[in-house]
Amino acid sequence: MNPDPRRARPRSSLGIHCTWAPDGGVDQASAPIVDMGEFGPYAGPHRLADAEIDGELVRITWDDAVQAVYHRLWLRDNCACADCRHPQTRERTVKLVDIDEPGRPEVTSDSDGALTCTWADGHVSRFDPNWLRQRRPEADGPAQPTPRLWTSARMADGLPSVDHHAVMNTNDGLRRWLDALSRDGATLVTGGPTQPGEVVRLAERIGWPRETNFGRHFDVQSKPNPNNAAYTAIRLEPHVDLPNWQRPPDFQFLYCLENKADGGESLLVDGFAVAGGLAEEDPEAFETLCTLPVDFRFQDAENDIRYRAPVIGRDADGAVREIRFNNWIRDAQPMDPAAAERFYRGYRRFWELLRDPKYMIRFPLKPGCMMAFDNLRVLHGREEFFPNTGKRHLQGCYVDRDLVDSRLRVLERT
Ligand SMILES: [Zn+2]
Repeated sequence: MNPDPRRARPRSSLGIHCTWAPDGGVDQASAPIVDMGEFGPYAGPHRLADAEIDGELVRITWDDAVQAVYHRLWLRDNCACADCRHPQTRERTVKLVDIDEPGRPEVTSDSDGALTCTWADGHVSRFDPNWLRQRRPEADGPAQPTPRLWTSARMADGLPSVDHHAVMNTNDGLRRWLDALSRDGATLVTGGPTQPGEVVRLAERIGWPRETNFGRHFDVQSKPNPNNAAYTAIRLEPHVDLPNWQRPPDFQFLYCLENKADGGESLLVDGFAVAGGLAEEDPEAFETLCTLPVDFRFQDAENDIRYRAPVIGRDADGAVREIRFNNWIRDAQPMDPAAAERFYRGYRRFWELLRDPKYMIRFPLKPGCMMAFDNLRVLHGREEFFPNTGKRHLQGCYVDRDLVDSRLRVLERT
């Protein structure tokens, strides 16, 4: 169960091990040629056919005629030898500021099909050919799971669901759950126990919960003196939790321990799909929600947590990256009447679409089941429930996206 060859063998001073048979038989296509101090996979079938220095650039050609150029300083900076990268932490220890200008290296594609650079001061750097290929300048950055946007029709048979036992006890179950969570933004974990605290144990399969002013985890039930709408029995319109934070929680888990009350069906809607729908039917309203800053605020006796941001957040490429929609903690912000005219028109239409059965799904959350969703993409809500008809008790917590992504990458190393 240990896929990492470095744990099984000490690193040589050059960090090299050779598994390539030069007579043409690639005996272990999955084994790296040069230890690049990487946990992630980079082994592959390619060897270098040629390497040459061309001014400031090192030009290499693989055995399938694919070429790439690297700046010589990039190569020196990314040397993976034991002097340049810490053998245990795998972090960079070479400091370009402290070494002599490395000059133009002598380069060769060596007998293993790896790149060897010999620098002016005699330092030797070796590079695995498939590692170089992963990092050629035109390569994409690390792959992120691609979101699969959904409407209610696609979820007609229910959310992607994984059995609690599989998530808690198998890496494959955990991987399937997190992969679906990352791509669909909403999943169910089913068939779990109804002991308090299970929501945190599930979060601990990934890492640890993100704490907020509502604690490490929170109990969603009708309470006396509530400080949040979730702690009442009223209908909750679809919303995002904590848009009043600069960095709202990325994922939310809601675990049902008991649900005997009438009403209280859960509501979910893919906010990215709805934003796309709005952009199509009303580009002006979409643009308003993307650009007009909105104040969100939570206040109680202990806290006053505020943040200002548009309802729809886009990344540098213009792709929708987050939704901040929560009607009850939207602040009474000063608003120019012309801006108010535009805002309320766009806001109303977006809200209507969020409620549209084309987009929204509705289902009863059963005891022992947990819904997990991307809090910045999939809005959640619930119908009104009637506390006099029975007890309804959910426990919730939040988890950072960095931890979910990291767990997935670690699980996918094998
Ligand atoms: Zn080095």
